[in-house]
Amino acid sequence: MNLKALHDLTYGMYIIGSRKSNSLNAQTANTVIQVCSDPVVVSVCINKGNLTHEFIKDSGVFSVSILSRDAPLSHIGAFGFRSGRDVDKLKGVNYRVGETGAPIVLDYALSYLEVKVAKDMDLLTHTTFVGEVVAAEVLRAGEPLTYAYYHAIKRGTTPTTAPSYVKETQAEGVPAVVETKGEERPARMDKYRCIVCGYVYDPKEGDPDSNIPPGVPFESLPDNWVCPVCGATKVDFEKVE
Ligand code: FE
Repeated sequence: MNLKALHDLTYGMYIIGSRKSNSLNAQTANTVIQVCSDPVVVSVCINKGNLTHEFIKDSGVFSVSILSRDAPLSHIGAFGFRSGRDVDKLKGVNYRVGETGAPIVLDYALSYLEVKVAKDMDLLTHTTFVGEVVAAEVLRAGEPLTYAYYHAIKRGTTPTTAPSYVKETQAEGVPAVVETKGEERPARMDKYRCIVCGYVYDPKEGDPDSNIPPGVPFESLPDNWVCPVCGATKVDFEKVE
């Protein structure tokens, strides 16, 4: 069995918002699917350990913000690699409370849906919530962000709690290193991996989200530079061997 076949499945990228009483939370997900058109029904699959799962279970509502291709890794990662139990993920974020009471994250969203859950399906580690779309709006024109684009172009990573997480070996997870024909590769071109989220800083690419141009070695990044995916600092990076 070659689980790399799963990498050929295609998905979008979404911010899922929900509430429990007056508490609001949101998380990144790639698992939104339209399942019926009349009435309009969609589903989302959420890890049982996530705070958003607890909120959807409690309130029976969720919102879906459909992300644009220009969404930076920092925006996607802020909702994906931290728990709402530790931080207020909506602090400093442009959002509004929809008619279901769920928060709708507006930053980098092309459109949004609001959903009332009709059914949920227990899937061991995850739950699939299925529900009718009760509100929907297009916010602006643009290209939706796909999961493939997130991985290939933005070099984003997948938390182990995501339903689409596939365990990768280091060789599969890290782009190929340029061979230097017997010479020691200069230290300044070493790649560094974030131990929190798995993001790899490649000096050949730089970090466009933080205006770091290609060619800047990891060692020369400013001390206040942070992981564009999860916000971890430079001390949380280790050299990719
Ligand atoms: Fe990170």
